[in-house]
Amino acid sequence: MTRIARTVIESEVYVGLNPCGCGAGTPPGPSAATAPDGRPMLWHDGPCPQCAKPWPAPFGLPLDVPRFGTTWDTFFGGPGPSTLLDPGEWLLVEKQLASGSIPARNADAATITEFRSMITMATAAINETLRFITDPSQYGLVTVDDCWTGRGRAELTARYRGYTWRRRLEAFREGLSGSLMEFGGGLFENVPITGALTLTGPGPGDDASMNRMVATGRRLMR
Ligand SMILES: [Zn+2]
Repeated sequence: MTRIARTVIESEVYVGLNPCGCGAGTPPGPSAATAPDGRPMLWHDGPCPQCAKPWPAPFGLPLDVPRFGTTWDTFFGGPGPSTLLDPGEWLLVEKQLASGSIPARNADAATITEFRSMITMATAAINETLRFITDPSQYGLVTVDDCWTGRGRAELTARYRGYTWRRRLEAFREGLSGSLMEFGGGLFENVPITGALTLTGPGPGDDASMNRMVATGRRLMR
């Protein structure tokens, strides 16, 4: 799979998660290239600028991508799922971003702005895990089989025993964004992030999806 960033911020998260073994966190300077869909892009690949070993995580950055999207549906890009981070890695990103404490009501403006920025990214990261779920019902699943990295599989296993479903992730996101809404809502680089974070169901349920979820759970927990 050719790894193509959907936004600049997605490429930054990817680079942050994939430094060179020598510790270098800056990828090799780009060369001009063309994305599979024909868009001109910058291709970051080649020897590490610090140790000259091959860069571990090459990726393309199309010239027309925005720095970040200003809605919940587009923050890290879209409409399809990421080709840079797998669904478990997005959970890992969420965990890293949301590890701080909730500021006091009377905290200074800079502290609150920093909190809103971190939780905005964390909330959008959960949306990225959700994007890997193809079944639109509340029981639509994401499993370790959807992950292509060991650390993605490890995170999904540690947090959810290897699989989780749409409604459960949405409920988690509800809790995360609830604290954000108390401080004025999504905000990133002084731009408000708009749009809805909706919950699917719980409705009467879809038996086929429910049965699939139970079967997957049994298989993965064996
Ligand atoms: Zn290196």
